[in-house]
Amino acid sequence: MNKNIFAENFNLSSYTTIKVGGVAEYFAEPRNTDEFASLIKWANLKKQRCQIIGAGSNLLINNIFIKGLVICTKKMKTLIIEPHTGMVEAAAGVMLPTLSNSLAKNRLQGGEWAVGIPGTVGGAIYMNAGTGNLSLAKNLVSVKVINNKTHKEIEIEKKDIDFEYRFSSFQSNDLVIISAKLYFEPNGNLEKLIQTTKNNLKLKTETQPYHLPSFGSVFKNPENNYAAKLIDDMGLKGFKIGGAEISTMHSNFIINNSSASSKDIYELITVIQEKILQNKGIYLQPEVRMIGFDYPN
Ligand SMILES: Cc1cc2nc3c(=O)[nH]c(=O)nc-3n(C[C@H](O)[C@H](O)[C@H](O)COP(=O)(O)OP(=O)(O)OC[C@H]3O[C@@H](n4cnc5c(N)ncnc54)[C@H](O)[C@@H]3O)c2cc1C
Repeated sequence: MNKNIFAENFNLSSYTTIKVGGVAEYFAEPRNTDEFASLIKWANLKKQRCQIIGAGSNLLINNIFIKGLVICTKKMKTLIIEPHTGMVEAAAGVMLPTLSNSLAKNRLQGGEWAVGIPGTVGGAIYMNAGTGNLSLAKNLVSVKVINNKTHKEIEIEKKDIDFEYRFSSFQSNDLVIISAKLYFEPNGNLEKLIQTTKNNLKLKTETQPYHLPSFGSVFKNPENNYAAKLIDDMGLKGFKIGGAEISTMHSNFIINNSSASSKDIYELITVIQEKILQNKGIYLQPEVRMIGFDYPN
């Protein structure tokens, strides 16, 4: 195994945006598709569980020893943009703000919303991340994947992928996202695109605790309701367990005020769920994915 990209007993806390995490038995950061594929094959051969993380911006990792291999895609940054045709190929680790800004600079329209989401292309497709009814699914052409079990590489067309609110079929299969082909409308107005992208980021930072350690919205919005409103109505804004606190700026955000443990955060999630269920009869489903907990992802 290439020692430059591989480590043992690796602390993951700086690899999540909420800044908590356990210790991975094996950890690797491939820089390209070949390294990525060979790591997955290695895990298979050694019968090690293989888990993928992107920018860790939607992840709660328990502060325990995580057996097996954790692969972080953040160093897979290849981004090819064809300004005239509107075709884009992005490796799994390309950050959405980078994608969004690069699209605007190349006069490609349709990615301005993505600037405020601090995740990778792979994580965004897996989560079907977005704002309102906008997500990468709208511009997706195909996704290159590798099967975590058979390590076969294939390309899947968008029509064969199921996308729903914060759900993609990748959440229920063994496919790992390597890269994506996307199409964005070419020849947009450069100044307008750059301005809209800037404004979208400004709006995010003004309405969310964007610069504090968090994992974005904790819960999915229930049908015809808003998780933030339900939490607000219960007077839970600012409620704390240890170092984990419900943001006073946005009630569907939990922030780590520097000393939170993963247990504090998990307990706070559970307390919110219990209170909303008891008082409103609504079960709040976490949007956040969990590693090292018994919670069914
Ligand atoms: C300040 C802030 C604001 C946010 N705003 C939004 C928002 O407006 N809208 C929104 O939808 N989300 C938002 N989020 C949540 C988060 O950024 C998105 O869900 C993002 O798409 C997650 O990407 P990631 O790379 O960080 O994935 P991670 O958190 O690293 O992983 C999330 C899941 O994706 C899987 N995964 C990651 N990469 C791959 C891959 N290559 N192949 C297969 N599986 C993979 C992981 O196994 C995990 O289950 C926000 C988060 C923060 C911190």
